Amino acid sequence: MLPIERGLEIVMSTAKAKQRTDWMPAEPIALFDSIHRILREDVFCDADSPRFDKALRDGFAVHFEDLRDVPAVLAVIGESRAGLGADVTVERGQSCEIMTGAPLPPGANAVVMVENTERLSPGSVRILKTTRENEGLLRRGAEARLGDKILATGRPIGLADLGLLASVGKSSVLVSKKPRVAVIATGDELVEVNQEPQRGQIRNSNTYTICAQIKEAGAEPIVLGIGRDNLDDLRCKIRCGLEQDVLLVSGGVSMGKYDLVETVFAEFGVEVLFDKIAMKPGKPTVFGYRGDTYVFGLPGNPISTMVAFHMFVRPLILFLLKAENTSPKTLEATLEVPAKCDPQRAALVPALVRFEGGKYWIRTTPWKGSSDLVGLARANALIMIPRGDGTLQAGQSAQFLLME
Ligand code: AMP
Ligand code: MG
Repeated sequence: MLPIERGLEIVMSTAKAKQRTDWMPAEPIALFDSIHRILREDVFCDADSPRFDKALRDGFAVHFEDLRDVPAVLAVIGESRAGLGADVTVERGQSCEIMTGAPLPPGANAVVMVENTERLSPGSVRILKTTRENEGLLRRGAEARLGDKILATGRPIGLADLGLLASVGKSSVLVSKKPRVAVIATGDELVEVNQEPQRGQIRNSNTYTICAQIKEAGAEPIVLGIGRDNLDDLRCKIRCGLEQDVLLVSGGVSMGKYDLVETVFAEFGVEVLFDKIAMKPGKPTVFGYRGDTYVFGLPGNPISTMVAFHMFVRPLILFLLKAENTSPKTLEATLEVPAKCDPQRAALVPALVRFEGGKYWIRTTPWKGSSDLVGLARANALIMIPRGDGTLQAGQSAQFLLME
């Protein structure tokens, strides 16, 4: 059986080797809709930032040298408002009233905040505290210069990036098109969420969790409904799914008599590169491709599906999007209780993680196995317990996946 890392290597090297001409093509979209999309252009400053020396406080623009001895009384010779500025030069012994974000008038070299002043008359102010050169202001170009590269291609557009793009005038940005990911849930036992399960039936939850994971990864889910455990139905659904960039089939990939998904993959000429991974849950994870379509069979148990998606599908989607970082997001914590290692497979176990004293602490939570969504919902993380004969002791460190 393949270790998780080897499985991931196979997925990524397949994607690289297939050398799609240009991953997902880039498309221009309105800045308004660009949050969390993957940027596909370098972005440069269209001007110095800030564009002019500007006040960071409401107060008075002064010569800091005038304030060696305080209190000191200065003449007030004008007012600089945000968006306007003042047509004055501040000489020694003078000041100019100024608002946050307003241009600093020539001559001044510091801004004293209004809380440290006392207005004596329209033409004079008493300054109560000393200040230093350049205090309370930001010089032109202090953040970045005209032509500086401020964002690089491959970056997921975050909140600060969005503001930055707006501030440099990018009303439209180039981002990766979203890969289209077909989702088929299989099983004769499945009913829709709004139906009452009869004897032996359960509601289809995987379609919901998989689609949420697809969206979180930056792709577009295409829901193809429930495929029943017979060749005709699976053929029909899988044929449609093979037209998308990625096809995800949940269930029907274990050893059961009615697990027919791999048979249908073979009929359609899907080149399967692995169908078992040494992890628990998630062992019967299948990966392959046909033409330009990447194909996954995800084990049907709800938690297995989630884990297999996180480990293998998410990195592939990020690769197709040309994201700068594709690896699964894992963090490190200190175990609070011992954890047993399985000699056969790395285990992912629901856990509660907390941050205290500058680091993460983690303990497993009770659960009843890979179908137990009730147990999982009480956890906030999955600990990754490596393959091995012994026990990880309390105090040892362990990797974990944070569950959003
Ligand atoms: P399978 O991989 O098809 O053998 O399914 C393994 C287990 O996961 C079975 O108990 C299924 O009932 C359950 N399961 C499969 N598909 C889903 C689904 N879409 N939603 C919830 N549970 C599922
Ligand atoms: Mg099944």
